[in-house]
Amino acid sequence: MTTNLVVFGSCNMDLVAYVPTAPKRGETVLGREFHTVPGGKGANQALAAAKAGANVRMIGAVGDDDLGGQIRDILRESDVDVTGVRTVPGRSGTAHIVVDDEGGNSIVVVPGANAAVDGLADGDEELIAGSKSLLLQLEIPFSGVEAAAAAGRRNGVRVVLTPAPAAELSEDILSNVDLLVPNEHEAAILAGDDDPHRALRTLLERVPEVVITLGGRGSLYGNRSGDVVEVPSFPVAAVDTTAAGDTFAGVLCTALAEGADMTEALRWGSAAAAVSVQRTGASSSMPTREEITDFLA
Ligand code: ATP
Repeated sequence: MTTNLVVFGSCNMDLVAYVPTAPKRGETVLGREFHTVPGGKGANQALAAAKAGANVRMIGAVGDDDLGGQIRDILRESDVDVTGVRTVPGRSGTAHIVVDDEGGNSIVVVPGANAAVDGLADGDEELIAGSKSLLLQLEIPFSGVEAAAAAGRRNGVRVVLTPAPAAELSEDILSNVDLLVPNEHEAAILAGDDDPHRALRTLLERVPEVVITLGGRGSLYGNRSGDVVEVPSFPVAAVDTTAAGDTFAGVLCTALAEGADMTEALRWGSAAAAVSVQRTGASSSMPTREEITDFLA
């Protein structure tokens, strides 16, 4: 079954160097390997949803450099529709990642073209109106997130926001969000409370539905009717949790857009994330639909 999701957000190229030990200030170290992989929370969620079988459209921006063409090509090869990805003068967004032998990392993100996604461009409203769900994150300017959320609400589309990186959010954004999906840290910042159950209740005063992801402890859902669902994570041997949250969000929204109820959609998101944490990498670790159904069988 195919379904329409629009992801409105960031597209980066991750430039990843693997080193025995990360360099200190002023030091040069020899790396073992170097990879370029598409990244950014927007592109990651789009790829997770497309691999899970959704018909996904990405709205965002890349630069007019070589990386921009590569990001666009990789998304297209993964069956993400990129007609809403505009090319703007300058550099594409990049994340410069150094991973050491203990699995620790340090990251510099340069937003580049993502800074241009500060509102709706021609055609964006039609793409959003033609979808069932709109997925948003916070790696583009707030004005872009706000404009997209308002367009989603105007067109009766379910608006889902992953509030990362963590930030205070205005009512102008939250009043148009149907489902908020923070991790534990983001929920604590937004609610001003470290306890996930209390944070859930506080956040439900601002949006109708909330899922707080709790890493290896699973996830917690609540809505304004008072329903609370706790979903434990699947017990697996995690080797790399990079993009677990984006995999969870992309697949949760795919299932919801296909008509699954929330409990089933949470199970799908958790299963996809559980498969992804057993492999290294971000988009490369995301499971296909078949892998998710096999895992759940
Ligand atoms: P990231 O920033 O790494 O993308 P996140 O902090 O946004 O992740 P998490 O809360 O860490 O998101 O994880 C999202 C979901 O992934 C969890 O709710 C859980 O279902 C699954 N998950 C995460 N870590 C594990 C793990 N160690 N074992 C099994 N499932 C996991």
